[in-house]
Amino acid sequence: MAYITLNKNNFFNNLDIIANRTKSVDKIALVLKDNAYGHGLLEMSSLAKEYGVKKAVVRTCQEAKEVEDFFEYILVLGEIPEIKSEKIRYTINDINNISRFPSGTKVELKVDTGMHRNGIDMSQLKVAFTKIKEAGLILEAVFTHHRSADELTSEWFWQNDNFKSVKKEAIYLAQEFGFENLRFHSANSPSLFRTSDFDEDMARVGIAAYGCMKLPNALNIDALKPVLSIYANKVSSRELKAGDRVGYGGDYEATTDCIAGNYDFGYGDGFLRSCANGYKTPNGVELIGRVSMDNSSFLSDEEELLIFDDAANAAVYAKTISYEVLTSLKPDIRRDFC
Ligand SMILES: *Cc1c(COP(=O)(O)O)cnc(C)c1O
Repeated sequence: MAYITLNKNNFFNNLDIIANRTKSVDKIALVLKDNAYGHGLLEMSSLAKEYGVKKAVVRTCQEAKEVEDFFEYILVLGEIPEIKSEKIRYTINDINNISRFPSGTKVELKVDTGMHRNGIDMSQLKVAFTKIKEAGLILEAVFTHHRSADELTSEWFWQNDNFKSVKKEAIYLAQEFGFENLRFHSANSPSLFRTSDFDEDMARVGIAAYGCMKLPNALNIDALKPVLSIYANKVSSRELKAGDRVGYGGDYEATTDCIAGNYDFGYGDGFLRSCANGYKTPNGVELIGRVSMDNSSFLSDEEELLIFDDAANAAVYAKTISYEVLTSLKPDIRRDFC
């Protein structure tokens, strides 16, 4: 079976860089949704705990339950509560859903400052506070999400200004409605690195912690190091004659006599088919033909092949982003620390 290695030193290096920005480890909320970006939910939770990270962000109630013992604070982004827990907070994404949260639930209000995806409209802050109060919910934080923090444009700035005005109004409303110590957060990874004077209550950091954040040159943080590598094992090998074709559709044609190895990593494991014809491993080994469900062929006779050690580089071949390369990796692939 193909297997994944997780580099603890690189992860801690990335957390050092992030903590330097947030100015405190306590302000790091590690985003663990989608199996910790394919790294392994429990594996990354235990490393994060060892480092001293106390906060986590997940998508579902199930994920929150699984990591409850590792963190002091967990924010669920995408579901309305199934389980009650001192540690878990739930996101209000829609003003019409507030009455569906059980009374006494700790909630955080997401405000739409320009992305127009989830969150309440900025103009409805007071209505939302009223509904939250009526539903008997405990409002702990107001937050937002940037649509273009990873692009070198003015977008980040106007959205930030929008959130500043939301904060101002929310602080005033919190007094009126009796929600004490309201907290604020807006930064994902790229957003955190847009500013050197971070002053919010926490940053929701995913891709930077996993070391696969790629920003335009002027913004990029070169010192972040990828945590995840994936290796595949040889299933078989064969000698090809010039003119022989390989794989479904015979897409690849050998130009000279050569040896082709078949390796146990296919699209069923998360190897994106868009890598076909042209993908090269970090050691320069060429993928030949299409990616199959459970395997793929390379111009190699090695027993074991490093497929990638930086999802951001693999993403270039696949014409996608590191996030998709990573979250495609199936949970049943073995994950080892190194
Ligand atoms: C996924 C997600 C993040 C993390 O984004 P990165 O770019 O990986 O740091 C932060 N906030 C929200 C709301 C998210 O959905």
